[in-house]
Amino acid sequence: QKAEWAKLVNEKTVSKDGHHVELAANIGTPNDLQGVQANGGEAVGLYRTEFLYMGRDQFPTEEEQFEAYRAVLEGMENKSVVVRTLDIGGDKNLPYLKLPEEMNPFLGFRAIRLCLEEQDMFRTQLRALLRASVYGNLKIMFPMIATLNEFRKAKAILLEEKDKLQSENIPVSDQIEIGIMVEIPSTAVLADQFAKEVDFFSIGTNDLIQYTMAADRMNERVSYLYQPYNPAILRLVKMVIDASHKEGKWTGMCGEMAGDEIAIPILLGLGLDEFSMSASSILKARSQIRSLNKSDMEKLAEKVLQLQTNEEVIEAVKNVTSL
Ligand code: PEP
Ligand code: MG
Repeated sequence: QKAEWAKLVNEKTVSKDGHHVELAANIGTPNDLQGVQANGGEAVGLYRTEFLYMGRDQFPTEEEQFEAYRAVLEGMENKSVVVRTLDIGGDKNLPYLKLPEEMNPFLGFRAIRLCLEEQDMFRTQLRALLRASVYGNLKIMFPMIATLNEFRKAKAILLEEKDKLQSENIPVSDQIEIGIMVEIPSTAVLADQFAKEVDFFSIGTNDLIQYTMAADRMNERVSYLYQPYNPAILRLVKMVIDASHKEGKWTGMCGEMAGDEIAIPILLGLGLDEFSMSASSILKARSQIRSLNKSDMEKLAEKVLQLQTNEEVIEAVKNVTSL
């Protein structure tokens, strides 16, 4: 099987009936690019920048960040690179950023919430990204967005930094798309409103499932509630995709679900535009998508949205695919 998949490295990801989707990779450092190329990744769908900040005793400088972002953008040779701004807090802490203990870290002061307060840190990252933007096809996305106001504030800060750079005669790309992760149910529910203001969505199912089911993704005792195919999750995913398309925008997914063989047929049917996963899953996913008809998967998607349980959805997918 692996030998069959390997032949697909340079092939497009098209369904049997000719619908193209983008298969992208999740990366944590520029060193991961090798795996992306080796597995035929069409883009980087999630660059988790927090690894730049972890395992050290002070913030990375603007220059260090610039070098890392430039390396990824150049390495991808004008293919799309979605960089997520710092997503720290929750389960990920920095020894040099002292934050008060919280009762519920996953519901607390993290990601964009932290960045909007710690603006020096945030602005340094944005400047590094903006400076790197001329070296490739950069898209910037903000994590853990819960309200339109958070998005507007983050975007305003980004545009301020862009203006400053331009007034210093430092070149910045004019093509940078600005999007958000959809990881919080409030944002999925208001996706129609967000879709008018963002350039794209990327659905972070690892957190979206945790927050929708109110089940800590690290807690074994409630793992039975961690249900990717629960129709409640699937309906939220559909709302986001439909809202984006209505405004001529696109939706990707960068949670684990995007590379999951049960989820892929449904997501194809729902019209997901970009699937971002660990590089090692790309060829298998490409092989699977090439074996499916999008029109059949649309019918499957319509059907599973009406089912009641995670298990029923798994059954339904197995019934119409070769899984
Ligand atoms: C997610 O929440 O689905 C996601 C991709 O982000 P992380 O796993 O880094 O929280
Ligand atoms: Mg997340």
